Amino acid sequence: MTYRATKIVSTLGPASSEPALLEQMIRAGVNVVRLNFSHGKAQDHIDRAQLVREAAQRAGCEVAIMADLQGPKIRVGKFADNKVMLATGQAFVLDAARTELGDAQGVGLDYKELPQDVKSGDVLVLNDGMIVMQVQTVKGHAVHCTVTQGGELSNNKGINKKGGGLTAPALTAKDMEDIKTAMSFKADYVAVSFPQNATDMEMARQLCNVAAAELGHKPHLIAKIERAEAIPKLEEILRASDGIMVARGDLAIEVGNAAVPALQKRMIRMAHDMDKTVITATHMMESMIHNPMPTRAEVSDVANAVLDGSDAVMTSAETAAGKFPLETVVEMAAVCVAAEEAEEVELDADFLGKTFTRIDQSIAMGALFTAYHMGVKAIVALTESGSTALWMSRHKIHIPIYALTSREATQRKMTLYRNVTPLLMPTSNDRDTAMREAETSLKQKGILKSGDRYVITCGEPMGAPGGTNMLKICLVA
Ligand code: PGA
Ligand code: MN
Repeated sequence: MTYRATKIVSTLGPASSEPALLEQMIRAGVNVVRLNFSHGKAQDHIDRAQLVREAAQRAGCEVAIMADLQGPKIRVGKFADNKVMLATGQAFVLDAARTELGDAQGVGLDYKELPQDVKSGDVLVLNDGMIVMQVQTVKGHAVHCTVTQGGELSNNKGINKKGGGLTAPALTAKDMEDIKTAMSFKADYVAVSFPQNATDMEMARQLCNVAAAELGHKPHLIAKIERAEAIPKLEEILRASDGIMVARGDLAIEVGNAAVPALQKRMIRMAHDMDKTVITATHMMESMIHNPMPTRAEVSDVANAVLDGSDAVMTSAETAAGKFPLETVVEMAAVCVAAEEAEEVELDADFLGKTFTRIDQSIAMGALFTAYHMGVKAIVALTESGSTALWMSRHKIHIPIYALTSREATQRKMTLYRNVTPLLMPTSNDRDTAMREAETSLKQKGILKSGDRYVITCGEPMGAPGGTNMLKICLVA
């Protein structure tokens, strides 16, 4: 299979839950499976996590699971017929107190505070911009609207207020329960929806760590940047997170479509500078929900997200509910590979004016520099925490990084890192033995062959996280 540095995050849903299909999708390139907690019950997610682990094992690939919390997204409730058709000009009532299923005249709300957060004249955008309504009046718990742009509205679709300014806290009671569910199956990543500041992320992390303490697990936290309020707080949010998601669906509604591409570039740059990961998400291959091939614009969008430096590109409904989930992954992978071939590498420029004080980070940068200038076949990092691989992967270099670890959790976490292939290796207390075993294993996998040069980093004594302190240039015998 062609080498691909950019990772693919795919949302699991009814369209991709068939075990054999999921296995094919993983073989075709899915590195992280996203479980969307906006849909389904706790048991559904537990079952799906099991399905993912089994499919990954059959495919012989390492796949991480990302639990994506619903957050305070204001969503409509469910409809009696699962969906309705709304006509432009008609009246429609969003009713926080409604208990019966929705119809063409109105629907209930998951977010009960909406009536307090809106006033007459506000514009509400539903289903990621497909439907627009204007608030006429708010009567108690009922928001009376006029549909200004009609269309199909189905169960649990999101509602945004144009311009932002909704007051809901990032973690809802449901999210707190969902965190427990996600930790019961040791989700590798937890994505927090609609964080407003660093405190939201810190709180989520604490809840995760407490819920997973018994299992000795620590998930990695992704902040979904999808609220106007989060933009001025990007730096503190990044500092409190392991990575971010450019969540273009909600973000575009709050800040306006036209502002998103520049924000995407800025967010990716900031994430790299702060040694964090970044996923570009939403509508990447949207037309493939219905069609077996993407539009030219979608191809360009994925390619540009790669060129911007995303660790991963994501699929949402394309793989969760679309007609061509497998084809979407195949197309996306091919676009990533072609974009990577076209990308320019200027490693030296990355280091200009930079100083490194940490020993492990200096070794990581030294390995990159050496690999780049010698033109070696591969960079090998023996890593317990994954930090060496993370630092290396923040720089564009057309040499693959193989991160070997004895910890399964570290291996899974690294599946998201751009240009990093995470591999499991048994622990060894002896440095030379570990290095020899690493080479043997990479030869067995066909990654290295006799005569190849590679650089390898490791720590002495072995096995201590953050202990990388040596770099060696090797020639495969
Ligand atoms: P969602 O988040 O799919 O959970 O809404 C992504 C986005 O808003 O782009
Ligand atoms: Mn969103």
